[in-house]
Amino acid sequence: MRLVLLGPPGAGKGTQSDVLKEKLGHGVLHHSVGDILRDAVKKNTPLGKQAEPFMSSGKLVPDNIILGVIRERFMEKNFQPCFLMDGFPRTIPQAEAFDSILKELRLPLTGVIVLDIPLSAIIERLVQRRSCPVCHRVYHLKYQKPKHDEMCDEGHGALIQRPDDSAEIIRQRFAVYEKETLPVIQYYQKKNLLIPVVATESIDNVSKDLLAKIDLFKKEHVL
Ligand code: ADP
Ligand code: AMP
Repeated sequence: MRLVLLGPPGAGKGTQSDVLKEKLGHGVLHHSVGDILRDAVKKNTPLGKQAEPFMSSGKLVPDNIILGVIRERFMEKNFQPCFLMDGFPRTIPQAEAFDSILKELRLPLTGVIVLDIPLSAIIERLVQRRSCPVCHRVYHLKYQKPKHDEMCDEGHGALIQRPDDSAEIIRQRFAVYEKETLPVIQYYQKKNLLIPVVATESIDNVSKDLLAKIDLFKKEHVL
């Protein structure tokens, strides 16, 4: 399986990626550009220094920087041919460049999942999101509670609140999504690759719907 997972911030891309990894088997590599960038910011690497001002203000990191990260991952020697792209591509130039990379590697996409949710539902999700800075596992103070008070269930210590999860920056990120990423969804629609999923239901219901739709899509496209 080679899947792209798109949707506005807070739609549940990270949460559903964890479910998909489990269900699709461990041969599927999860690439979250957001996690890669946050690690780079934490370690204060040249990539992190470049990306931080864009991330903290809710803007997209420029395409050339993102594509550098992706090319490096896809061109490495023991690259895994089954993958789940979480939040990439987010612009038309990224989608076109990704197509070229996949064409060169002869690895066509299986499908593009779009998690659909309005801004009004996103704010509550994101202001109460907490995440582990070590393993990147995502929690919610109401819907996906950690076992012990704001501590990672995997024993990695205190959870953090992302600095870009404030109401003001969330609105900015949503606006960027509508302007830059909705055209990417149309781009994949023209290629007949879209798997739309309503993301406002509970985590379990979204997972069930998502897995059923992937199965149906595979049958319809004889994959
Ligand atoms: P994204 O990766 O799309 O930004 P996340 O997977 O990090 O979104 O989810 C955002 C927040 O919403 C997290 O705190 C997560 O626990 C919570 N969440 C995800 N899916 C649901 C859902 N279906 N119902 C309620 N809360 C959810
Ligand atoms: P996310 O973890 O997906 O919410 O992404 C957090 C932030 O990382 C975004 O607001 C952007 O600043 C940056 N980012 C993540 N993925 C991309 C991408 N594909 N293109 C540009 N910027 C990205």
